[in-house]
Amino acid sequence: MEVNKNIVILGAGESGVGAAYLAQQQGYDVFVSDMGAIAPKYKEQLQNWNIRFEENQHTEAEILNAVEVIKSPGIPDKAPLVKKLREKGVPVISEIEFAGRYTNAKMICITGSNGKTTTTTLTYHILSKAGLNVGLAGNIGKSFAYQVATEKFDTYVLEISSFMLDDMYKFKADIAVLLNITPDHLDRYDYKLENYVASKFRITQNQTANDYFIYCADDTETLKGMQGRTFAAKQLPFSIEKTIEPGAYLENDNIVINVNQEHFQMSITELALQGKHNIYNSMASGLAARILEIRNPTIRESMMDVQPIEHRLEFVAKISGIGFINDSKATNVNSTWYALESMTTDVVLILGGVDKGNDYSMLKELVRQKVKAIVCLGKDNSRIHDAFEDDVDVIVNTLSAAEAAQVAFHLAKKGDTVLLSPACASFDLFKNYEDRGTQFKDAVRQL
Ligand code: ADP
Repeated sequence: MEVNKNIVILGAGESGVGAAYLAQQQGYDVFVSDMGAIAPKYKEQLQNWNIRFEENQHTEAEILNAVEVIKSPGIPDKAPLVKKLREKGVPVISEIEFAGRYTNAKMICITGSNGKTTTTTLTYHILSKAGLNVGLAGNIGKSFAYQVATEKFDTYVLEISSFMLDDMYKFKADIAVLLNITPDHLDRYDYKLENYVASKFRITQNQTANDYFIYCADDTETLKGMQGRTFAAKQLPFSIEKTIEPGAYLENDNIVINVNQEHFQMSITELALQGKHNIYNSMASGLAARILEIRNPTIRESMMDVQPIEHRLEFVAKISGIGFINDSKATNVNSTWYALESMTTDVVLILGGVDKGNDYSMLKELVRQKVKAIVCLGKDNSRIHDAFEDDVDVIVNTLSAAEAAQVAFHLAKKGDTVLLSPACASFDLFKNYEDRGTQFKDAVRQL
């Protein structure tokens, strides 16, 4: 009997094209289908590898005939084609699930509503500095599948979004990290927080007693979600509010990490990544590093010399004594809260963009304490005006990063900080948050 080796990849981005390469290497008959236009770089790769593909359409007859479908995390379950695949019983999986079958490397998997990229980058930095043969993948950098096909890493640090987790079934994290849970992307979860929470907890699925689950013991939704769920892995919580052993906590402004009776300590003033949120992220990375028995001096040095990550509380310049910070990646209210919390001067805050139904009330207290003016950057800023008109005297509308930077510059005084931390998506005026952050930085440098 002929075995069906047809595999279909939906979505020809970084993960899809990498998955196509690995699938072909594993002897599958591969077909890539994208409903939009495929970026020239990926088209060229598919052509060079002789992988069949289509763009701007989905040929259903061919796709429904697949033995398995690897779906880009960007395609929602509600898409008619995905529904049809499920009805027909064709397994739909993520690139991570697929590639995980072809490597025995140790997996450190990091998820959460905020802080994934930062914590993944920091963890990778520590492990690389320790000399481990380690790869970095997931929602960051090069495709995991492509690396599995072409590299021989012993360990991977993977940034995992909830959309990826939704299509992961057998994959197991040796070390699972859940940073925090705050409502986000609810449109993909039937507007039910419990569905989003369930998705996040999939990071621990298939774990055994030899594995580890690192989580934030100060995070209400995480703690709520843990009730009624069972965990086979060893649990390592981290907290700023209480002392936890084993786990990570703060003692007199020192981070203390205790895993297997061994203690690591470091002052928070020494951290290259500043701000309360980065204390959490550093604790999570430090716990993972201690589990892997990385030496304390290496962890300390790595936490001191890791490079700030672009668009995340990134210092841009000081002009006329006014500091400019680009936190364009703050696309929800929670991350803007952490950005404001970490400010030690008066702030001119650049907010706005596409509002995904934001509740600004959690920002009000910090805005009253620290913000002297709000510069709105976006097409429709009415909800920001409504939310803050009683708290700040000056709220100005702008329609470009350059205009926002100029207006903010005029409103700020020596010693103040101009903070771009929009709490909103960027699609009304920009391609994406990177474009917004880059345009802002360019504008600041022209001031
Ligand atoms: P993600 O990859 O989960 O989107 P990033 O590391 O890119 O997270 O950070 C996104 C935004 O969230 C940044 O603006 C950053 O300042 C803020 N942030 C980072 N870590 C945390 C955290 N642990 N809790 C809350 N906000 C955070």
